[in-house]
Amino acid sequence: MESSKDAIDQFIESNLSNFSINGSGWHSLIRDMLYEFCIAGWNLDEKVFGKEKFGGLRCYVSSPDEALNKKIQEIKSKYIRLSGKTCEKCGKEGKGRFVNSWETTLCFDHYLETINILEIDNDDVKINGKYVFNTNEISRIEIRNSYRQITLYISSSFTDKEKTFYVARWEPNFYLLLNSIPQHFFSNEDKTYTKSMFQNLKDCEICGYQSVFENRCVRCLKESWNNSLLEYYDNKLEYIKEIQMDLFIDEDDNEKVRQFDRSFEKLPDHKILFNGEELEKYKKELQEMDL
Ligand SMILES: [Zn+2]
Ligand SMILES: [Zn+2]
Repeated sequence: MESSKDAIDQFIESNLSNFSINGSGWHSLIRDMLYEFCIAGWNLDEKVFGKEKFGGLRCYVSSPDEALNKKIQEIKSKYIRLSGKTCEKCGKEGKGRFVNSWETTLCFDHYLETINILEIDNDDVKINGKYVFNTNEISRIEIRNSYRQITLYISSSFTDKEKTFYVARWEPNFYLLLNSIPQHFFSNEDKTYTKSMFQNLKDCEICGYQSVFENRCVRCLKESWNNSLLEYYDNKLEYIKEIQMDLFIDEDDNEKVRQFDRSFEKLPDHKILFNGEELEKYKKELQEMDL
């Protein structure tokens, strides 16, 4: 039975609200999917429900009619795929991201909104432009996970309550904050470690900042060239080139986020060692590995 255009439109609009999604970015995908259900022969009296799961659009429907069910399952798979490339918030091109250990699909701008960008201005600490505390208000700190995270306890003079802030090293300007915490809060061991780190930073030939400590860059997290890498690479040049290309391709947008980081000094004579041709060849190799 053919359904009228009005009946289809009404079916789509009334079922759209049965989808539990964190934003309106997938609305047009859901509308298209519901439309395809109609065309496939879905009974418009049957409600369709769905939600976001693992960053993809899930829809829990099936039909006892085997031929129809096959079509419905194909349509569902198509939209799981499409939703995995579409920002859930705004509908622009997106990528799968982990936000507070949840999987979600977001464009770069909406991903950036989920990241705490720290700023330190005259001992005032701001997160995403908003003042949160002054370093004088820190009452104690806990350094955890091999200096990857700090918990700061803040006692404000305005309130008796102690506030807690967690900061992690992937948040832009984490090291700037670490370096701004008054020394007496550190244990002797931590004091020695952080002091030695900030005083002994070497040049990172990969990302181009003075940010290497104990043979690994604390900014881009890449290992500096050393002979143990000869197991995988013919020589230093080959290694640096490849890792520079990884940073340039920036699959997970980590470098894009780090552009907000001012913790380390940029090296004025940093050299990009790969050329356009090598980059294209490398991208092709990565694509082939993905297939
Ligand atoms: Zn977006
Ligand atoms: Zn680096």
